[in-house]
Amino acid sequence: MNFEFSNLGQELAGGSGIGELMEDLGNALAAGGDDIRMLGGGQPAHIPEVNAIWRRRMEEILGEPGALERMLANYDPPKGNPGFIRSLAGMCRDQFGWEVGEEHFAVTAGGQTAFFFLFNLLAGDMADGSRKKILLPLVPEYIGYANQGGCGNLFRAVPPKIEKTGEHEFKYRVDFDQLEITDDIAAICVSRPTNPTGNVLTDHEISKLSKLAKAHGIPLIIDNAYGAPFPNIIFTEATPVWDEHIILTLSLSKIGLPGTRTGIVVAHPKIASAVSEMSSVVGLSNPNIGQAIAEPLIKSGEILRLANETVQPFYVEKSRLAQEWVRESFGERFDYYIHRSEGALFLWLWFPGLPITSRELYERLKKRGVLIISGHYFFFGLEDEDWPHRHECLRMTFTMDERTVQEGIRTIAEEVEKAFA
Ligand code: PLP
Repeated sequence: MNFEFSNLGQELAGGSGIGELMEDLGNALAAGGDDIRMLGGGQPAHIPEVNAIWRRRMEEILGEPGALERMLANYDPPKGNPGFIRSLAGMCRDQFGWEVGEEHFAVTAGGQTAFFFLFNLLAGDMADGSRKKILLPLVPEYIGYANQGGCGNLFRAVPPKIEKTGEHEFKYRVDFDQLEITDDIAAICVSRPTNPTGNVLTDHEISKLSKLAKAHGIPLIIDNAYGAPFPNIIFTEATPVWDEHIILTLSLSKIGLPGTRTGIVVAHPKIASAVSEMSSVVGLSNPNIGQAIAEPLIKSGEILRLANETVQPFYVEKSRLAQEWVRESFGERFDYYIHRSEGALFLWLWFPGLPITSRELYERLKKRGVLIISGHYFFFGLEDEDWPHRHECLRMTFTMDERTVQEGIRTIAEEVEKAFA
């Protein structure tokens, strides 16, 4: 049988960086064993204090008459569980003073699904025959967006300014001089903190992007998968923002519930209700379990304490250790820079003048049992195919146990040194 796939089918099923990543991640986690150093995926750590709370919540659900049945045996409305949304709206009003009601929220089956809906809602082929795009004001940007366009490439990206901030440290900045918002731009999108780099766009950068979006009558989408109020995996000062033209996404994944597939969109009611309609068409309703586990924690504020007192300090330390091991292992063996680690779960390493591509480096490391992500995947939407920088970087996750991360870093040092030899 020779199955033929549609354009949409090819776009979604024709192979992608995120597909390769999730395959590596799932296989490595399923196989277990000592011989794989998995520094590739976005798997959050299993933090004992956090897992103890999920266990406690499951026991409470089991112990409360009718709660298990409501969680497992009901369809929730496609917009999300009403109690969950009420508590979330309350938290956003109390914590940040945002003027949001329940009509500003929509739950999705993970943040990833929220992006598929939002990008295809706003960009692509329009009723007037035009074709609109999503502007990424700074790449590298989250690999998971890359293949989400229902009608081909949806992105236009702008290369960043590279600022050296230390002997072996750099930071990407939005290059506002190169940022042009043409008529075919449907929305601006950033992740903050950024996956893959751990960059946190400054308040000034966000305020400028927000003003630009507003002035052009288009939304600014802020992917807050690692941001405040939860999981708050931010190691620097950053003010959370929301406004009627801002579409903010949150997720329960990085605080420790990726298996529940719970994403949240906070947006103008017209956008929130469109997302909920899309959920009903694609999936009828959303997974209930994460919402049931998290709702009382959101209502009581316990989730904020968990984020601020347990999750954030845990990753601050993970990041610090990973950087220390990079400095120890890399020494002065070759030229390298670490992107300033301001949040999220990754270190982004840059090897200026790397004689092989980062893709080749990925293959060589994989043969030695170390899985990282080649940096080139994160530069989608750029017109300049020849920019060497896009083949000189890699992303490594620092959430795994210390031995895995330390040994993985040692092997990276050896392979990069060989490449330069
Ligand atoms: N956005 C960013 C920046 C991410 O890193 C991820 C996951 O790694 C997601 C969105 C999607 O996460 P989820 O679908 O688990 O909520």
